[in-house]
Amino acid sequence: MSATDISMAGMANTKRAVDDHVDEQEAATPVGFGELIRPIRGKLVAACIVQAFAALAALVPFIAVAELGRELLGDQPVDDGRLWAIAWVAIAGVAARIVLLFIAASITHFADNDLQLDLRRRLADRLGRAPLGWFDDRDGGDIKKAVVDDVGAMHHVVGHTFTDITAAIVTPIAAMAYLFTIDWRLSLIVLVPFLIGVALYARQFAGYRDKMEDYNRSLEEINVASVEFVQGISVVKTFGESGRAHRRFSKAANEFVDYFWNWVSGMLRISSTSDIVLSPLMTLTVIAAAGTWFVSSDWISAVDLVLFFLLGLVMTAPILQLGYAMNDLQTASDAAGRVGTLLATPTLSEVAEPRRPEGNAVEFDEVSFSYDGRRNVLDGVALRLEPGTVTALVGPSGSGKSTLAKLLCRFWDPTGGAVRIGGVDLRNIASDELYRHVGFVFQDVQLLRASIAENIALGRPGASRDEVIAAARAAQIHDRIEQFADGYDTVVDEGAKLSGGEAQRVSIARALLADAPILVLDEATAFADPESEAAIQDALSNLAVGRTLLVIAHRLSTIVEADQIAVVDQGHVVELGRHGDLLDLDGLYAGQWAADQRAEPTIDSTTHRTQEVAQ
Ligand code: ADP
Ligand code: MG
Repeated sequence: MSATDISMAGMANTKRAVDDHVDEQEAATPVGFGELIRPIRGKLVAACIVQAFAALAALVPFIAVAELGRELLGDQPVDDGRLWAIAWVAIAGVAARIVLLFIAASITHFADNDLQLDLRRRLADRLGRAPLGWFDDRDGGDIKKAVVDDVGAMHHVVGHTFTDITAAIVTPIAAMAYLFTIDWRLSLIVLVPFLIGVALYARQFAGYRDKMEDYNRSLEEINVASVEFVQGISVVKTFGESGRAHRRFSKAANEFVDYFWNWVSGMLRISSTSDIVLSPLMTLTVIAAAGTWFVSSDWISAVDLVLFFLLGLVMTAPILQLGYAMNDLQTASDAAGRVGTLLATPTLSEVAEPRRPEGNAVEFDEVSFSYDGRRNVLDGVALRLEPGTVTALVGPSGSGKSTLAKLLCRFWDPTGGAVRIGGVDLRNIASDELYRHVGFVFQDVQLLRASIAENIALGRPGASRDEVIAAARAAQIHDRIEQFADGYDTVVDEGAKLSGGEAQRVSIARALLADAPILVLDEATAFADPESEAAIQDALSNLAVGRTLLVIAHRLSTIVEADQIAVVDQGHVVELGRHGDLLDLDGLYAGQWAADQRAEPTIDSTTHRTQEVAQ
């Protein structure tokens, strides 16, 4: 297994674990397309009925033309009044069709408007109540795709496809019914190529879904193989293994080409046959051949044959439309699936009568937590953070420190026990109230594509420019911001590319401005560049003053001076005390400390990083 395979497998597992977890929360079952459009079903049905009448009206001019012919070519003298009557009926048919089409389109577009509004409102509501941790595990791109693109993809189907399908079905049936009243034998003959064409089309689309899945799978295999090939290129070159990765890639590519060719050539054979069978030329040929026979045998009149010519063409045209419509329906139902999944996002409970925390003491009361409902990542953690004190979490990587920190920010609710602020369970605190009490700076800082000033002011909407600048100064980022051409009005990612450390300091400025009395700092300096690191440390010191601080620390200085250090191991707090106490205890912390000192004995102990202890 290559490194890429392993990391891919890891990602897949994490994802699955997370999804399981989501299922366990108060997640609703995902709903399909039919369910999503339920609120506008009445409107759609109405539009389709109107559309059906429009399709009938479309036949009127054709029939009128035939009637005119009958009148003009008949044996009786031409009756002017009747000619005009027929002409008026034809014109009325055309006018009625235009009006009906307009009404049907208006109804569907109003319905579409309602649906888009309804879906976006429901999505916004749902996502607004989703646990923050849920976003942690998701790509913003996926969410955007569902909210913007997928909701948009349903527009076409609601606005056009259902009415198109109605027209494509009503028109040929009505035309055929009319022709049957004229001569059922010739009608049957005309029906033959039509039925063959439809059957071929049906065969072409049968199994389309499975084929599409195979197709996507093949494509995915190529993607994986090419990512492996490109990512691993330095490794394989170094170890002279270039043949292996390359073979996987070319194998995937060859399989894809074979697969695609078989599928497409099969499709092409069927579809070119059906295209020929359903082509106007074929219809005309059949009608001409059979019609000549019928007319010469005196079974039907020449005028009736004209009707067959005219309506025969009307019949076949909509079939192609049905093919496209099926495709659109498929696209829309895939899109609806993604939207439905988002709508099934678990939500955090909001209590009807929220309580206000009394003070800012934090209490983890026998807290347990599991992401997947099987393995407890935290198990009976008891910890108290007194107001205005610093608590440091240390312990091996994966021991549960970040999870504990996130529970305090209500990224998730604990599986067992409770987290309390000022004596009140987080579940009983309204979320805006909660985030007035708790601020956090995490490693993966998210900045919005907005001006730097706006990004900082998120901490306190309505803050003045002076307040923003004061926060930026305290966060040691003011000078850097001034270097941008537009200063504080520089838009993140457009006018400014911020380094990880700089983004971190912007988020510290945000937290400073928010001025929450409780602060959670998780691995805040882990990815910072060396210059940033000292600045971040200073910024953090400013942030810590007078607050209740929970910090996952990287620096000895923070740990040494902390009011309490909690050593977390496999989801338990195994040691708790001040730096000196823990050294005396001679346990995990003391051991790690000693190892640390031996590893880097020459570095000034107040500034060097204790990665091993902290992770
Ligand atoms: P630490 O911060 O101490 O390194 P974490 O709290 O990040 O530890 O992780 C604790 C355990 O929980 C690890 O085994 C990790 O794999 C798992 N874990 C962390 N985040 C998630 C997540 N979003 N979904 C599933 N498992 C997770
Ligand atoms: Mg962590």
